[in-house]
Amino acid sequence: MEEILRINGISKRYDDITVLDHVSLSIKSGEVVVIVGPSGCGKSTLLRCVNSLENIQEGEILLNGESVNPGNKKPAALRQKIGMVFQSYELFPHKTVLQNLTLAPLKVKKTGRKEAEEEGLKLLERVGLLSRKDNYPSQLSGGQKQRVAIMRALMMHPEVLLLDEITAALDPEMVREVLEVVLSLAKEGRTMLIVTHELQFARAVADRMVFIDGGRIVEEGTPEEFFEHPRTERLRKFLHSFSYGE
Ligand code: ADP
Ligand code: MG
Repeated sequence: MEEILRINGISKRYDDITVLDHVSLSIKSGEVVVIVGPSGCGKSTLLRCVNSLENIQEGEILLNGESVNPGNKKPAALRQKIGMVFQSYELFPHKTVLQNLTLAPLKVKKTGRKEAEEEGLKLLERVGLLSRKDNYPSQLSGGQKQRVAIMRALMMHPEVLLLDEITAALDPEMVREVLEVVLSLAKEGRTMLIVTHELQFARAVADRMVFIDGGRIVEEGTPEEFFEHPRTERLRKFLHSFSYGE
């Protein structure tokens, strides 16, 4: 498999607080990497850096060998190749579901309306929400909104999809319907970098697990190694706090 994303020794600081400390990670095309770690360890910051929402003080982030760091000559074009979905579904409240999907392709990609709408309808059908195309976000459940948000990200044809705790704000009964969508994306070979606290799901979807603590990668391995044979005390403690491996 070919490397698609390379995070090369990046550090992120706010004044004198170091949030990411020389983090390096390489992701191959079609690979699903799941990041876990205690609250505040830097997971969201890492994804935000990859998506160029934060500047970094050290290191470099490369997509297909090209730097995506701000300051690069064409970060906007490169940034489009990275899609992100957040914990709180940030759908546009005054746009319908279908308009939410087509907005960026029409405006940013200059896709034709017919083409964008056809693709949007196809994606809505895929997640069972075709009948909701003319609804506004306020008329949807949290799980439905999050499925729309994932499809909206796919509309831009990203090469890498970043998912930051996308089920954390959902009622338990809606978590599964969203995770199933993510599993189907993994099965079709999407490259994804996922932050989640759903460890069972992580184990099922991940090609590789990464544990971050205090802004550093502490442990990395196959799901089997990671969950069955954690090498560090810190990861063992973390897994135990989820009653995992007891
Ligand atoms: P996680 O997603 O793992 O819970 P975050 O990446 O959100 O953690 O945050 C990592 C650390 O960075 C936290 O200690 C947080 O307080 C700090 N942090 C995040 N954003 C800022 C900011 N804008 N200014 C200062 N500190 C911040
Ligand atoms: Mg976070």
